[in-house]
Amino acid sequence: MSDLIINKAQQLDQADPLRQCREQFLLPATDNSPDIYFVGNSLGLQPAGVATSLSHILQLWQHSGVHGHFEGSGSATAWMDMPQQIAGLVAPLVGAAPEEVVIMNTLTVNLHLLLASFYRPTGTRRKILIEQHAFPSDHHAVASFLRIQGEDPDETLLTIPATRGGFLFDTGAVLEHITAHSDTLALVLLPGVQYYTGQVLDIDRITRHVRSLGIAIGWDLAHAVGNIPLQLSEWGPDFACWCSYKYLNGGPGAPGGCFIRSDHCHNTSLQRLAGWWGHERSTRFQMRPDFVPAADASGWQLSNPPILSLAATQPALELFQQAGGMRPLRQKSLQMTQFFRECLQHCCERKVTVLTPESPAEHGCQLSLEIHADDIAGRDVYNRLLEAGIHTDWREPNVIRAAPVPLYNTFSEIAHFAQSLARILQP
Ligand SMILES: *Cc1c(COP(=O)(O)O)cnc(C)c1O
Repeated sequence: MSDLIINKAQQLDQADPLRQCREQFLLPATDNSPDIYFVGNSLGLQPAGVATSLSHILQLWQHSGVHGHFEGSGSATAWMDMPQQIAGLVAPLVGAAPEEVVIMNTLTVNLHLLLASFYRPTGTRRKILIEQHAFPSDHHAVASFLRIQGEDPDETLLTIPATRGGFLFDTGAVLEHITAHSDTLALVLLPGVQYYTGQVLDIDRITRHVRSLGIAIGWDLAHAVGNIPLQLSEWGPDFACWCSYKYLNGGPGAPGGCFIRSDHCHNTSLQRLAGWWGHERSTRFQMRPDFVPAADASGWQLSNPPILSLAATQPALELFQQAGGMRPLRQKSLQMTQFFRECLQHCCERKVTVLTPESPAEHGCQLSLEIHADDIAGRDVYNRLLEAGIHTDWREPNVIRAAPVPLYNTFSEIAHFAQSLARILQP
């Protein structure tokens, strides 16, 4: 049976039109043989072009000093123009116009900035709704933000329960919950892809529903961007934000991104926490005290951008472009997860339950595997995998998250993972 799996994996790899993308990444290795890296949902791998991209910036800094802000050299862009250039590469990945995207700060910082603009309580509508198992940083951001507004989060921070099996969301139940609380809600903040289960929420339907009730809606796309296709302009949430170091491979601490719907971009009277870099570009350096925000998403920038981090992010985004964007990547990703499930069914059916929903519309690259073996603790399974050069992610109490990503993982790695897991589970 396991030979069958290996053969099938080899066939799938040979037929994979994206197989050459892997060569553009630097893979961790043990004794000169590449590890299996299934944690691109946590920190994506380093593209081979990063070192060169960084060294161009270092050279420009060395030779031009402060003038590097305004003058490029060779293949290095003037630093002034880099955030916009990078926004232009990210925009197609999130289905937005480049003017609706800004690359700045990191995700939690951006959540605070966006809440400052889009939380507009009126009368009884003062509450913010998030999901029950929200990523802790999102929970902390919203609770502390409400406190600064003079609200008591015990009363104004609502959580929506996961009704399907205690972990998953049914769109219908989400819509009903929102309707039931609509008289008291000012804003809804939900994850495009839930980090623990890998479930994809129906961003389009939920957004339309929330907007029809006159409530603001934002999406945390940390686990969605670079993972599943997104159509933010079409779906029309008020805002969205994400980080660039997970599926986008932008490197540790890479600057995050925000989507701000175009009508909000043009509304320069919208409140915001302002800084000089959000000032309208042509008059920014007149250094006057009055603030005239840029009439696009860049009007939310505060500071001059972290150029070295942006330079590290750029090669990764160019690889998405070279791969042909999200459509071919998604196609391979769906094939990978389907094959992953087949392998698990063959190898370890009774000891592993996949928490992630099976329907293609409801999952991305990640499968969350619930381990239930009598003779070995889940945590030890994770450690044994790591000893074997297989990188996954451990979440209490018994979940291993594994995310084969289409840019650099192979079907053979999936087969190998399943076999190793089976061996560890059957002592
Ligand atoms: C990864 C992740 C974060 C991380 O936030 P940072 O501010 O970038 O450290 C926040 N929220 C979600 C949902 C995440 O998945």
